[in-house]
Amino acid sequence: MLRWFADNARDLPWRRNPTPYRVWVSEIMLQQTRVEAVREKYTAFLRRFPDVRKLARASQEAVLVAWSGLGYYRRARQLHAAAKLVVTNHDGKFPRDAAAIAALPGIGRYTAGAIGSIAWQQAVPIVDGNIERVFARWHGIEGAIKSAPVARRLWTLAQSWVETGVAAGHSPCSLNQSLMELGALVCTPRAPRCGQCPVAAHCRARATGSPESLPRRAAAAKAVPLQLVLAGLRDAGGRVWLQRRRGGESPLPAGLWEFPHCKGAARSAKAKLESLLGCTMHRPGRPVQRKHSIMHWKITLTLLPAFMPQVGAAGPHVQGAQGRWFTPAQARKAAQSGATAKLLQVLLAGE
Ligand code: SF4
Repeated sequence: MLRWFADNARDLPWRRNPTPYRVWVSEIMLQQTRVEAVREKYTAFLRRFPDVRKLARASQEAVLVAWSGLGYYRRARQLHAAAKLVVTNHDGKFPRDAAAIAALPGIGRYTAGAIGSIAWQQAVPIVDGNIERVFARWHGIEGAIKSAPVARRLWTLAQSWVETGVAAGHSPCSLNQSLMELGALVCTPRAPRCGQCPVAAHCRARATGSPESLPRRAAAAKAVPLQLVLAGLRDAGGRVWLQRRRGGESPLPAGLWEFPHCKGAARSAKAKLESLLGCTMHRPGRPVQRKHSIMHWKITLTLLPAFMPQVGAAGPHVQGAQGRWFTPAQARKAAQSGATAKLLQVLLAGE
């Protein structure tokens, strides 16, 4: 495995100079996000916030802007909150102690293991989606991969893997990363390349002739359809009205700049939005529709472009939200979710 890893490891930016801060940021970004998407954002984020003190000092707005496009914005808020705690409680040095690491927001057993083994060279295990798949196939684990007994078994295997390897004189960083890399490059969810796999001779799933049958998953939660109508308001100067909510029922992430919106179908969009905004939407344009998925929601977004000639600087008022006018350039740079970015691109097309 280690020979294979040395020959095949990808040159990823977070593998260079793996300080605790750099590993931590990369691991939080990589949760639920593809390596290629993170690769682009990671370098820019590190340029903007090169160390934990700079991140802790930044405003939440600046952190969310740097996070834009990665989704799951809770991760960015928790990273920011944890950076403040590292500065306040640990003098800006990432703690080595497992209990202190676990007390930081957004850091679970996996992230703690990644930082411990990759940055601190500690013999601590990690189990991520790639390692789950490699172990399930290699050891022929038949139970549902997310079930508690299987999770316990995977962590035990991962612990034994890293401890045995370290006892034999190998680096915990390479031991853990070799498993992750094998899952990412060879033991892929579909069409694993068993012919190139360094553990093929020992792999139980391969011996059955259908390695793809593992890991087993419990039936996925059913997607729930949802229709949202959104107000694409412009003023006489071409500015766009965006708002920020503290919370509420919408599945769109709170705390980011967004179009005022509510549940409703395209045909009733104008009436619904006028009642939400408490004012008339003038010269409504052709509605724009886009599909968007967030967790189990399969959302149809209908943006209704309209003109607000007489409200001026005040803008409409939506309960529980604060809004303001943005020039097109400001709107593009505002901290926003993927759903808002998709619609904004259409609303501002050609400007
Ligand atoms: S032999 Fe195939 S199924 Fe088994 S661990 Fe290697 S790539 Fe995965």
